[in-house]
Amino acid sequence: MLGAQGMPIPLTDPSVRRAMDAMAPLQAWTLDQQVSICEIPAPPFKEQARAEEFRRRMIGFGYADTRIDSEGNVIAEIGRGDGPTVLISGHLDTVFPEGTEVRTTRTGDRIAGPGIGDDCRGLAVVLTLAKVLKEQRLEPKGRLILVGNVGEEGPGNLRGVRHLFTKEFPGKIDYFISVDGAGGGAITSRAVGSHRYLVSFEGPGGHSYGAFGMANPMHAMGRAIANIADIQVPTRPKVTFNVGIVRGGTSVNTITPLAQMEVDMRSESATELAAIDGRIRAAIDAGAAAERARWPNSRAGITVRFDTIGIRPTGGQSDDAPIVRTAWAAVEALGWLPATVASSTDANLPIAMGIPAITINGGGASTGAHGTEEAYRELPDSYKGPQLALLIVAALAGVAR
Ligand SMILES: [Zn+2]
Repeated sequence: MLGAQGMPIPLTDPSVRRAMDAMAPLQAWTLDQQVSICEIPAPPFKEQARAEEFRRRMIGFGYADTRIDSEGNVIAEIGRGDGPTVLISGHLDTVFPEGTEVRTTRTGDRIAGPGIGDDCRGLAVVLTLAKVLKEQRLEPKGRLILVGNVGEEGPGNLRGVRHLFTKEFPGKIDYFISVDGAGGGAITSRAVGSHRYLVSFEGPGGHSYGAFGMANPMHAMGRAIANIADIQVPTRPKVTFNVGIVRGGTSVNTITPLAQMEVDMRSESATELAAIDGRIRAAIDAGAAAERARWPNSRAGITVRFDTIGIRPTGGQSDDAPIVRTAWAAVEALGWLPATVASSTDANLPIAMGIPAITINGGGASTGAHGTEEAYRELPDSYKGPQLALLIVAALAGVAR
């Protein structure tokens, strides 16, 4: 891939150079930001305390107008407004429920704690970028919106970025960059979309002996799961499905009136995602129909209800898109190895809307995301995370003279 169609990376610009040089000595400071913000709990829909602290820090760096919008996103701005508008964000929320122990433990260059990589690293990168831009008086030619957003993880269903793109800045954002997690030069350029449903099988229920002979919601669900398990899917583009949770039942000798399961399906192709959605629904309906047919003399029916838990949109974005080429060139300029990947991130939403968007890594390395054993490893060149964000932002938004 050639960088020719991306924006030129302003490596020789003296003010960009100064800002780049200021970031390496800040490596330990960046890590402190990451650790301290991470020790403030931020369960889904309960990001307020972390948001307030993020806002307080941004004001401390000189972004006096930093605000929290009605959805809970923290928003600061810098730039002349004489060029493209770029929004860069890390997500405030974690997957961990209230009450999870969020204190971190440090062993050498390894720090363990829930969310330490995903996405306290991203937040620390945005904070570092914000601080250095002010300190080095590096002003974007266009407009740069620096954000700590809510609602990236599953339950949030992208509510933070959805609000940004539809309510706060509709039609105004030219480029979106999410900094999500630790790592090097991999650029998420394609969006893995997902559909998630809570499926409920319902019937009158009854005594397992006395009422025997009626269709059984639990058995219907079992048939549906067996049908789903047999579905064949393409590998390119990748299509996946999963029954992740089953629940229901009253006692061993009760025909349960309610059985439920949670189903997830994913693909980076909108067409394939729609196709697997249809096949999963058909498999479930066929399971219920087979259970009804098993008991032709029973007047007790079975109903199936779909409740949407999450819809993550997907959409096409070429690896030749200027934002992807620009990020690729910036990764190369830092001496990292570039690659493009497909993933499910905040960038899904703008990509589905046709707005150029990527997700980048924040430097360092991490393991165990979404588990309480999550750990972040500081590497000698972790400072390149903030540098990467700076180079991409400077290339896309330009530098004021
Ligand atoms: Zn994340």
